[in-house]
Amino acid sequence: MSKPLPVTLDDIRAAEARIRGRVRRTPLQVDPRLKDVLLKQEYRQKTGAFKLRGATNAILSLPPDQLARGVVTASTGNHGRALAHAARAAGVRAVVCLSHLVPANKVQAVRDLGAEVRITGQSQDEAMAEVQRAVAEEGLTEVPPFDHPAVVAGQGTLGLELLADCPAPSAVLIPLSGGGLAAGVAAAVKALSPSIRLIGVSMQRGAAMAASLAAGQPVEVMEEPTLADSLGGGIGLRNCVTFEMCRALLDDVVLVSEDEIAAAMRHIHAVTGDAVEGAAAVGVAAILSGRVSVGPATLCILSGANVAPDTFARILQGQAA
Ligand SMILES: *Cc1c(COP(=O)(O)O)cnc(C)c1O
Repeated sequence: MSKPLPVTLDDIRAAEARIRGRVRRTPLQVDPRLKDVLLKQEYRQKTGAFKLRGATNAILSLPPDQLARGVVTASTGNHGRALAHAARAAGVRAVVCLSHLVPANKVQAVRDLGAEVRITGQSQDEAMAEVQRAVAEEGLTEVPPFDHPAVVAGQGTLGLELLADCPAPSAVLIPLSGGGLAAGVAAAVKALSPSIRLIGVSMQRGAAMAASLAAGQPVEVMEEPTLADSLGGGIGLRNCVTFEMCRALLDDVVLVSEDEIAAAMRHIHAVTGDAVEGAAAVGVAAILSGRVSVGPATLCILSGANVAPDTFARILQGQAA
């Protein structure tokens, strides 16, 4: 027997009980144009992305003395929004450190949620350095965007919802960046039904988990602009939760191009009427491009809605990026 993974089905069930009533249960909708494909509309989550699940579970798992000092994170946007919302709901101070790469709409959204925003540096690494300083000098508690057992367990509640609504899918396509969503969903799904295929999907431009899995250890990749900006950033060279879980639990990782992401965003808009962000469209992109073949009941997690309106308008007009 290999050693147990850092997050188990029991942890995810406990997270589900803890966050119930604080996050939305999002719908699973049949795709009317793609046979056998179902769309998990998680972009309808409060704050526009699944990250509220992990952030809420992480905050509600903290001891009172840490809650009293507050929480801090560096985030490409959706986790920052989620942490800000979860903190405000729990009456806790939240500080969010962002790099200058984060789009203006996401920065403003974090501020609107009542968090203190600090913008530093040109990379996720520089924003992270500010987090470490706040932890060391101000006594704040870091809630990271993915590499944390309570965050992974929270994201895993999405996996429980999937199987409650569709007990026997052939595959689940999961947007993949740091791997918190993939690790959590995979831990839930594989524990309940090991034969379901789990496919992580990233963009070709700067897929850190894919490169790390291929290398057999966490590696750095160059950050590049992409429509799937929520999938940017590294997995952390000292990753201690999600790399191991993705390696153990994902059956496959697929990469999609910018044009494929744009086409998938248009497809999702056509069938749901909703604007989703590039990161949310990668599963549909993998199907439309033929990179993944569809079996009976193939589930795509549409992970977030936080796209700048002008970006979305350009994509609807048929421009790739
Ligand atoms: C964070 C995020 C992802 C990727 O999640 P990881 O846990 O980092 O793999 C996918 N889609 C959206 C919209 C996100 O905000």
